[in-house]
Amino acid sequence: MEAVEKPSAVQRNPYEAALKNFDIAADHLELDHDIRAMLRDPERELTVTVPVRMDDGKVETFVGYRVQYSTARGPGKGGIRFHPNVTLDEVKALACWMTWKCAVVNIPFGGAKGGVTCNPKKLSIRELEHLTRRYTVGILPLIGPDLDIPAPDVYTNPQIMAWMMDTYEMTKGYSVPGVVTGKPVSLGGSHGRNEATGRGVFYSIQNACDFLNISLENTTVVVQGFGNAGSVTAHLLDSAESNVVAVSDSTGCIYNKDGLSIPKLILHKAHTGSVLGFAGSEEISADDMLSLRCDILVPAALEGAITGENADRLNARIIAEAANGPITPDADSILFGKGVFVIPDILCNAGGVTVSYFEWAQDESHVFWDEAEVYARLEKIMKNSFMDVLKIHRDRHVNMRVAANMLGVGRVAEAARLRGLYPQ
Ligand code: GLU
Repeated sequence: MEAVEKPSAVQRNPYEAALKNFDIAADHLELDHDIRAMLRDPERELTVTVPVRMDDGKVETFVGYRVQYSTARGPGKGGIRFHPNVTLDEVKALACWMTWKCAVVNIPFGGAKGGVTCNPKKLSIRELEHLTRRYTVGILPLIGPDLDIPAPDVYTNPQIMAWMMDTYEMTKGYSVPGVVTGKPVSLGGSHGRNEATGRGVFYSIQNACDFLNISLENTTVVVQGFGNAGSVTAHLLDSAESNVVAVSDSTGCIYNKDGLSIPKLILHKAHTGSVLGFAGSEEISADDMLSLRCDILVPAALEGAITGENADRLNARIIAEAANGPITPDADSILFGKGVFVIPDILCNAGGVTVSYFEWAQDESHVFWDEAEVYARLEKIMKNSFMDVLKIHRDRHVNMRVAANMLGVGRVAEAARLRGLYPQ
């Protein structure tokens, strides 16, 4: 019998993968020992028990986390994930990536992330609200508009941010809209925030296509994950006359070689809760979907989707990482070796946190912008950041992932160096 190779720690554990990419960037930047030591671990990690009285009258306990990886460039910033697979190491990886991401787009934040290990799909609205509020109380000492600012992530949304803000404000006794971003617009949220991650991914794809001399029209697209980021990206690509031929969500994958109507698919998913059963589509396996020949593949689900095992079968010219950490480091070597143009997550999906920064700035100044202004500023930041990463890619002869990490890690290292070490 053929021996089944066990996945390495780096493949299994997103935090190991994050550190591996940090080390590669640090080597290229020739960071000295002291700065490396200061940036290689999170500043602060908090684990909280979250007891919730369930609808059946019994108390169930959940585990929640908030990790502040770095505050060298500003307050902690990053989303809250509600998912059954949330672990401390996953949250640490996500907080680490947020740190480099905020630095790549040059916004004045550090990096943080939070999560609760739970299955929100199995909770009632009442249970979800109580879980959110009790988790917020648990991490209360760590959050604040100048301290650490949560936002939505996988399976959290504007309503959950509204509950978090309300819980925080009730304990303080005054209004603090800047404590979270991704709130509903009617509570001090920003126009365009809800679509910002997907819109930023779309701008990144446009930037990559401009560079590679590819016209978006008639390109074939595959989107893995049809949540907030994946569906908005697919919609914008569809509007730009791209052909989205396959889409998946947690329930399965669908395919139509002539292209799926994305506005209709969004309605179908809203009604049925799944992409499956969409008129005119056929169901295919996840493996078959990932190996489809396409111009643009958008992994928009979870980390570790593309590994050393399946990377060789991929047939895409561009991979736009809408998710955080979808490609493991060993898959990176295969893909960059094949000449695939990968737009790395900390650049590609930075539109979400960029508009979070706009939201926070609007809340702090009490002056609000219209949607056109938000989009124009977002487009400019995504373009400038893409060009900054591209310059390192060309000047230093490193792949786009290494280039993005060099930009992000380099900026954080510069901030850490200027601050020095206190107290000593
Ligand atoms: N969860 C998003 C991300 O991974 C947005 C974070 C934020 O807006 O703070 O980038």
